[in-house]
Amino acid sequence: MKFAAEFVSSVSTVGAYPRWERSEVALAGRSNVGKSSLLNALVESRGLARTSKTPGRTRAVNFFGLGGNLALVDLPGYGYAKMGRAAATQIGVLVKDYLTQREPLRALVLLVDARRGPEQEELALLSLQAERPPHYGKPIATIVVATKSDKVRPGQRNTALKRFTAHGIEPIMCSALNGEGIESLRRRIVAVAGA
Ligand code: GDP
Repeated sequence: MKFAAEFVSSVSTVGAYPRWERSEVALAGRSNVGKSSLLNALVESRGLARTSKTPGRTRAVNFFGLGGNLALVDLPGYGYAKMGRAAATQIGVLVKDYLTQREPLRALVLLVDARRGPEQEELALLSLQAERPPHYGKPIATIVVATKSDKVRPGQRNTALKRFTAHGIEPIMCSALNGEGIESLRRRIVAVAGA
């Protein structure tokens, strides 16, 4: 299975999201975690993630249609050291608004470097769930992806995994380089978004 996705819109204003019936699956992670590479590995359309990296879009929420009733939502990378405080605050407000207020959101794919494990910033994103209005119904599904798994040496795998399981998280180990986990991730996305 390969996803065919197409760019729909880029939103940098809180609340100005598309009006449609699609179920949305959002991808979030720190800058440099490998989000663009993972997007490219997940979808067919060449250069799709590059679209999100064009000037003006790196700080935006980028929407991609996926088949007839799904959408992938690329959230801006946060925690970039070179980013000014104002930009970081603006991104934080936008990401928080999207994750807590966006009704069609069904699943959050949180990307964490496989060698690092989740830190406070990532755990805080996962806990935003609690701030969604109760009338939105079912809680959103969360899928944690441990990125760049090819960089974890075989002897270090268990230690790396423990940094996730210590927080009750079972990550999908993924590598955009050698393809590990990509198909499992596609299946999980379809399963949780359609459910
Ligand atoms: P983004 O800022 O989160 O979109 O991250 P990028 O996808 O641009 O990747 C950041 C850096 O990590 C680049 O140098 C990529 O080549 C590298 N990278 C991304 N994914 C992988 C991976 O699965 N394995 C390895 N070894 N490197 C990766």
